[in-house]
Amino acid sequence: PNIQYEIYRRRIEMNIQEFWSYIHSELLNLQQQVKYLAPELINPINQVFNLGAQHKRSLINDIQTLAEVDGYATWREKESNDLSNLVQSRFKKLQNPSDCKSAKKLVCSLNKGCGYGCQLHHVVYCFMVAYGTERTLVLKSKGWRYHKAGWEEVFQPISETCTSATGETTKNWPGTPDIQVLTLPIIDSISPRPPFLPLAIPEDLAPRLSRIHGDPIVWWVGQFLKYLLRPQEKTAAFLQEAITNMGFKRPIVGVHVRRTDKVGTEASYHGIEEYMTAVDEYYNQLELKQKFDKRRIYLASDDPKVIVDAKNKYPNYEILGDADVAKTAAVSSRYSDSSLNGIILDIHMLSMSDYLVCTFSSQVCRVAYEIMQNFFPDAANKFKSLDDIYYYGGQNAHNRVAVLPHESQKNGELNLQVGDLIGVAGNHWNGFSKGRNLRTQQVGLYPSFKVKDKVESVKFPTYQEPSD
Ligand code: GDP
Repeated sequence: PNIQYEIYRRRIEMNIQEFWSYIHSELLNLQQQVKYLAPELINPINQVFNLGAQHKRSLINDIQTLAEVDGYATWREKESNDLSNLVQSRFKKLQNPSDCKSAKKLVCSLNKGCGYGCQLHHVVYCFMVAYGTERTLVLKSKGWRYHKAGWEEVFQPISETCTSATGETTKNWPGTPDIQVLTLPIIDSISPRPPFLPLAIPEDLAPRLSRIHGDPIVWWVGQFLKYLLRPQEKTAAFLQEAITNMGFKRPIVGVHVRRTDKVGTEASYHGIEEYMTAVDEYYNQLELKQKFDKRRIYLASDDPKVIVDAKNKYPNYEILGDADVAKTAAVSSRYSDSSLNGIILDIHMLSMSDYLVCTFSSQVCRVAYEIMQNFFPDAANKFKSLDDIYYYGGQNAHNRVAVLPHESQKNGELNLQVGDLIGVAGNHWNGFSKGRNLRTQQVGLYPSFKVKDKVESVKFPTYQEPSD
């Protein structure tokens, strides 16, 4: 298909959601205002809510059906697989140099002082810089806070031939190209910053990725996770057994409720009802397309009460997920060998879901969303975040381009001219996003549908096709 066809198809789906977010939120405001002044308006407004939601679902269903009947579904599957195979074979080649003694290496330590999701993102960042500088990544993981014996007991080693961090010459980043072994600090303190950091994707893949995927950087991150998280036999067997025992079935929505130490420090509290409203909407939508036996979720949390409460509160739902797993996530026992299986299982189940409901402020859910891209040609739209839009910790500026002009209608709104660059701060999920107009330096709200994402691509090495 023509790249513009794919871009417009995805844009229509996204903007139907934005349109409804806008109408829905404005109606809620109106309802608050008329409650005492004109209570007779409450019912007519409810009718608009109701039929409006049906209208939206019908539109979404039609645009999704279009992607099934336009004749390109097979191409999308194949193109997505081809791209993944290409990238995976490049990783394999980079990680298994023919002569490790002379190979250029990049060394990272897994033990960043943070959670499992945060540590995975740390390794992905190291791997990206390794790929960008054509250096074999060596991961130091002995004494890992989630598994003392190290990464290689849980996941396959990231190299079969080249695992030693030693070499002729050693220096800290940035060093020089001739230094054999470079050590990389965490992303928060890297200086100078290489061009290979998110949200950049490789220029040689950008045209294909922009055509196949709604958010290429998420796909790109997902590819690194695909390589890194190849399980050891024991891990694979544990996952398989857990999946069989819980009676995993589709359709299923993955729900992640991050609580305990995160709430009030790095994120706001969201009640389970808020998550379940989004889940309900997913199933109301799905009903237009297919019959299914049950409304089902996989529920993960670091607070066991969330899982117990949800099972009581939503008896009409089939709820997979185990309060005992959540218990292992308690802050006091979190960084231990015994909690690792729990978080691996939860992230795996969330990523295997048909749709994700969570807070993107949590790295647990962002990792699940990234891995999810490995199971669909394009799962960019298969989520509802109750707070942040997608981001990568330590990323470079996230910019959007105005495609429609906007004249501020009230205080706090931005003026836009077509072509303006907007530095994105977030989506208020009410039809408006927040950002800075880089032409005027004005900060404020703008209608989300009046911009498009700017995909950042930079020159990475273009690996020649491996011959094996
Ligand atoms: P963030 O703090 O939510 O951004 O994510 P991190 O992964 O960096 O740190 C949170 C840690 O808390 C995780 O790595 C887990 O150890 C634990 N945790 C949080 N949510 C869950 C969950 O749903 N299930 C399990 N098993 N552990 C969780």
